[in-house]
Amino acid sequence: MSEHVPVLIAGSGCAGHTAAIYAARADLKPLVLEGNEPGGQLSLTSDVENFPGFPEGINGFDLVENMKKQAQRFGARYQYGFISKVEPGSPLRCTTDGGEVITCDALIVASGARARRLNVPGEDELFGRGVSSCATCDGAFYRDMEIAVVGGGDSACEEALFLTRFASKVHLLHRRDSLRASKIMQDRTLSHEKIQVHWNTVVESVHGSPEKGVEYLQLQKDGKPEQLKISGLFLGIGHIPNTEFLRGVCELDEEGYLVTQLGKTNGENVKTNVPGIFGCGDVVDKRYRQAITAAGMGCKAAMDAEHMLAERKAEAVAGH
Ligand code: NAP
Repeated sequence: MSEHVPVLIAGSGCAGHTAAIYAARADLKPLVLEGNEPGGQLSLTSDVENFPGFPEGINGFDLVENMKKQAQRFGARYQYGFISKVEPGSPLRCTTDGGEVITCDALIVASGARARRLNVPGEDELFGRGVSSCATCDGAFYRDMEIAVVGGGDSACEEALFLTRFASKVHLLHRRDSLRASKIMQDRTLSHEKIQVHWNTVVESVHGSPEKGVEYLQLQKDGKPEQLKISGLFLGIGHIPNTEFLRGVCELDEEGYLVTQLGKTNGENVKTNVPGIFGCGDVVDKRYRQAITAAGMGCKAAMDAEHMLAERKAEAVAGH
């Protein structure tokens, strides 16, 4: 099967949906491939308190669902699946995981980033059986149990705070002696009666069985071995950009983030080194990584794609 669309959008988080709203309103009939995690990371977030326009906060899933409905109202189409291969050219030729070929004049990459793993023994075997990267999804399984969260950033603090709703105690394990999280999240975390922070603590291995789940962690605390009995381990240690399908096609940085023209004049920062391919959201941005900044970049990507298509059309008319 093969089809051609003017604008193809890879990913359905804040950036992808916003690009879809703008592209659809510009009558570019965008097709959105929803990606591995429809709705993106925001759909796994409980309360979003910093997206402007929601004074009482809004559930992350509801926020992205609203964005999707808004894009659909203007004619954006959504389809499950993700891009596994991109061949540059005009049109660009994209192959999906299901083997479908979709050609497009503009490709907006909004494929986001996924949770980083510790890469320690026991983690993979017990993933989904006591090890999780989503407190919102799995927290309720640990009612009245002791659990641990690893990491020292906003994600780890947010997960730890959320998990206090269920767990009897949350151990926050951080490899250094100070948190990276924002001041407000630090204050909430450090003052919470159910959260115990373990400084200078590294998780060396995860122990348990698929039947019983996680039973204990082998730690290195202040350089000394220590065991911690817990029933669940949540990973809050950052993210890896979903750019595997762009390797060898677009310029990526040393961590795999898609390189766009950051720092160019007029706030232009969504064009990649390949004509017709634009990048927005967490797949590009390792600095801000906010719902609102992702949405802003999604808007820019759609506007720049629209501008490029209009220029090409004008050139084609002038050439005849
Ligand atoms: P992050 O800020 O990169 O923090 C990752 C944390 O994990 C760091 O504390 C890091 O330790 C630790 N870490 C990384 N690799 C590790 C490993 N292999 N073993 C042990 N620890 C490891 O990532 P994030 O917390 O996901 O936040 C990303 C961005 O999203 C930030 O800009 C954040 O502000 C934003 N965010 C905001 C909210 C909110 O506003 N509600 C919620 C979530 C995220 P070190 O500190 O030693 O490097």
